[in-house]
Amino acid sequence: MPTAYRGRFAPTPSGPLHAGSLLTAVASYLDARHHDGEWLVRVEDIDLPRCPSGAADTILRQLEAFGLEWDTDTPDMTRDVRYQSHRNDAYATALEQLKANCAVYPCDCSRKQWRGFSLYPGWCRTRSTPPCGAHAWRLDIRAAEQWGGNAAVAGWEDRLQGHVQLDLATLGDVVLKRRDSLWAYQLAVVVDDADQGITDVVRGLDLLDNSPWQRLLQAALGLPMPSLTHLPLITADNGQKLSKQNLAPALPEAPDAIRQRLHHTLKLLGQHPPNELVDASPAEQLAHAIPRWSLAAVGKATALSASAPS
Ligand code: GLU
Repeated sequence: MPTAYRGRFAPTPSGPLHAGSLLTAVASYLDARHHDGEWLVRVEDIDLPRCPSGAADTILRQLEAFGLEWDTDTPDMTRDVRYQSHRNDAYATALEQLKANCAVYPCDCSRKQWRGFSLYPGWCRTRSTPPCGAHAWRLDIRAAEQWGGNAAVAGWEDRLQGHVQLDLATLGDVVLKRRDSLWAYQLAVVVDDADQGITDVVRGLDLLDNSPWQRLLQAALGLPMPSLTHLPLITADNGQKLSKQNLAPALPEAPDAIRQRLHHTLKLLGQHPPNELVDASPAEQLAHAIPRWSLAAVGKATALSASAPS
């Protein structure tokens, strides 16, 4: 019987987890478990050249160390984590469907050609002869008109942010398959969320702008639209978002430090774990937090400072 709630954590293994990705993992885990749901882990390694070898395994070991145990996504338990690098055929099938639905077009414009524009101006949308050399495939955002219109696709009730309304025209025709043949995140995430039966997506606010494209793709492919929750981001003391690119400090590895970090992460999420739980194992801290989990307590702030509360 399908579960009523199926969540996921979908890291790109371009480096180990940091405080920001840990916060997303903990929140999506608690939200799933609080709803008696399943929680899957999906390794989003479509851009393999950007994923150092061993990084995915490091992330899985970090999740284990923080007590975040995931479910398997196959009934026979043969595969417990999905790797996007193994999913070419599924993405190719989806692209064929989008071609048949006139929701995509081939484009061989180079970035240099449209320098000076804030978005790709859509030159290849209307060309009469398809490009014969290497080319990308772009989503044609005008296709939204077929599936309820821009406003319907680009607006949703976010479980944390409330009603969000964006405009596809300000986002542009995103690339779904790159000129170098690599699949792009937008297509892969939509195909896999549907294939894995994900009902609830809980992720960082940095991905908010991606949701309209994903909702348009879901409409064009006839896929369900999961509920969306966009969490505040953690910022460093200088106010910058923590990320692998700006060298976010590594997560601790020593058991005591892991306990403290998890306790701190629960505090950042507004969950008020009792002080004495700071010495409890990750499993004990999470078991305490699951029945008490409150998304409202996380709050709508767009950024949380890594060092507060102490
Ligand atoms: N792979 C994305 C990242 O690491 C997250 C994708 C998602 O949650 O939709 O930023």
